[in-house]
Amino acid sequence: MALIHQLQGVGQATAALLEKLNLFTTDDLLFHLPRDYEDRSSIIAMNQLQVGRSYLLEGVVQSVDFPAGKRKSMAVALQDDFGKVTLRFYHIYKNLTNTLQVGQRVRVFGEIRVGARGLELYHPEIKAIHAHTPLPKTQLTAIYPSTDGLTQAKLREYVKQALQQHSDALPELIPSQFCNGYALKDALFYIHEPPLSANMQQLAQGSHPAQQRLIFEELVAHQLSLLARRAYIQQIQAPALPSSKVLAKQLLAGLPFKMTHAQKRVSKEIADDLKQNKPMLRLVQGDVGAGKTLVAGIAACHALEADWQVALMAPTEILAEQHYLNFKRWFEPLGLNVAWLSGKQKGKARSAAEAQIATGAAQLVIGTHALFQDSVKFAKLGLVIIDEQHRFGVDQRLALRNKGDAQYTPHQLVMTATPIPRTLAMSAYGDLDTSIIDELPPGRTPIQTVAIPIDRREEVLQRIANNCAEGKQAYWVCTLVEQSETLDAQAAEATYQEIQQRFPELKIGLVHGKMKADDKQRVMQQFKDNQLQLLIATTVIEVGVDVPNASLMIIENAERLGLSQLHQLRGRVGRGALASFCVLLYKTPLSKNGHERLSILRESNDGFVIAEKDLELRGPGEMLGTRQTGDLGFRVAKLERDDHLLNQAHDVAQQIMQKYPQLVEPLLKRWLPEAPRYAYV
Ligand code: ADP
Ligand code: MG
Repeated sequence: MALIHQLQGVGQATAALLEKLNLFTTDDLLFHLPRDYEDRSSIIAMNQLQVGRSYLLEGVVQSVDFPAGKRKSMAVALQDDFGKVTLRFYHIYKNLTNTLQVGQRVRVFGEIRVGARGLELYHPEIKAIHAHTPLPKTQLTAIYPSTDGLTQAKLREYVKQALQQHSDALPELIPSQFCNGYALKDALFYIHEPPLSANMQQLAQGSHPAQQRLIFEELVAHQLSLLARRAYIQQIQAPALPSSKVLAKQLLAGLPFKMTHAQKRVSKEIADDLKQNKPMLRLVQGDVGAGKTLVAGIAACHALEADWQVALMAPTEILAEQHYLNFKRWFEPLGLNVAWLSGKQKGKARSAAEAQIATGAAQLVIGTHALFQDSVKFAKLGLVIIDEQHRFGVDQRLALRNKGDAQYTPHQLVMTATPIPRTLAMSAYGDLDTSIIDELPPGRTPIQTVAIPIDRREEVLQRIANNCAEGKQAYWVCTLVEQSETLDAQAAEATYQEIQQRFPELKIGLVHGKMKADDKQRVMQQFKDNQLQLLIATTVIEVGVDVPNASLMIIENAERLGLSQLHQLRGRVGRGALASFCVLLYKTPLSKNGHERLSILRESNDGFVIAEKDLELRGPGEMLGTRQTGDLGFRVAKLERDDHLLNQAHDVAQQIMQKYPQLVEPLLKRWLPEAPRYAYV
């Protein structure tokens, strides 16, 4: 490996451009893979051109002129035996005018566009030739991700040098028995300079075996980083928390129901983890309404009884507040102090909360992201519970770890109602153990879901009003108009006004993300206390809000939302014994995808089925949220395309960890140079 400026032709200016692309060494260049390929092996006649495609053309310069216009340009007429095109240049430099003399024969490559003079090529690659100059290309031409000022021709030249002079030194990091016959070096040559016979479609899709060889290596490296993180965490000290003898029993005794089998099983899995003196990292998946909160409560008992603090973090104010009230209700009667911490809390309230947390006077702390802030210091943090994990990034997960004291790292329990398809879980949460609450509490009647076109909104509204008048409670959800909380809030506001005017006798409330936490909380509480019959809301009520008496939900513009989100929303009803309904109001005409989504929801109430479909329809990026796919940070792999390699990558990573530990560090360096390193021994 050499530094990039050691390549021929790379001066300081070029090196700076390459660095913009994160290319610092010849190895970086070798792994800078083409984004596309072009066939420049044959010259195309000028009467055969299609707009928008790129061609290699050969002709003689007929004229050169500099037409007046808004932007100064140079127009070059180029002609062959069949037709004529115009080459257009806006940056005019000496080499260009020297080469493009009238009468000169040139080869040009570029995309055909329609310009002022008909078919034009803007800034094509050009080469002066003589008649009968042989075609130089015996291979497909790679097109690289580049940056302003760095031409494809130059990039190709540097890659060529790197291939010829430095690829021999590139270590093979995947033992040969694991990599379907392709040596790394051969794969790189093939990818950068594929023969003309190569399958271009495969290459463009990234499914060629040479590409898959690299993709596999990247997936292995990624799995290794998760294994390494796991190994690292396993050798960190955590407080060993014996199972609660008193608190858990007291908590359960105060409840009007018994735990389900699934809740008991998962609680035991957690208790077993907590007894260890290494940090638990466990993901609990359970469909909406499965009763995750109680499982969290029992987990908290073990820590609290052993005199350790517990922090519970939720992604939204509403949800955090609800947990706060819930935990207060459960734990204050047992003599424990529950503190509240949110980003909106300022001044005295904030410093009082922080003081309680720092002295240990507050044993339980519930809050939002604010819990991560530097100013928040815990006296003795033993367990961190994160609700609705899919909204938190991997880094945040690690950040909370540092809230423990120097000697002990807290245990972590992560809960999500969005069941995560296995392939995705393996990549994004491969460092976590998983428990599944696969049973709903008894007595729930399944939610009936219907999809109704928006032109029958009037009818639906009338029916809802009637139902509410009979004592049922309903949610009316206004969905994102744009990706904007403000517009969203306005839509909800307008709907609120409209319905209130139509049905003045109906008691209606409004919650949206732009309201003050206090106001939101007050409205939610009124709805909970059955003082409101209809709650108009934005998707802020999505996660966790629990009002068992609400049995109707209307989702306007349901076609705009993803499957998992709709399922989450719908999970707000069907929480009590009442038969529940969900009405998906949609705008016609429905796209094929939209139609499919609504059908799936009508047919299934099973969060796991829905999550798998969601992954199929949307891909992992959307499903995890951008932040988390950013964390995944793949350079060549794409989960939606390459997930069939994951199992094998996981196995190979384990074998490398055991049998070839010397390969781990170089693999991580090659593929995840930015990722934090964990010392694993
Ligand atoms: P989620 O898993 O969606 O967070 P919650 O913890 O909010 O679900 O529980 C949903 C509702 O079910 C709550 O009202 C809770 O009190 C109730 N619940 C939890 N566990 C049981 C159980 N074992 N039997 C009956 N109801 C339960
Ligand atoms: Mg919940």
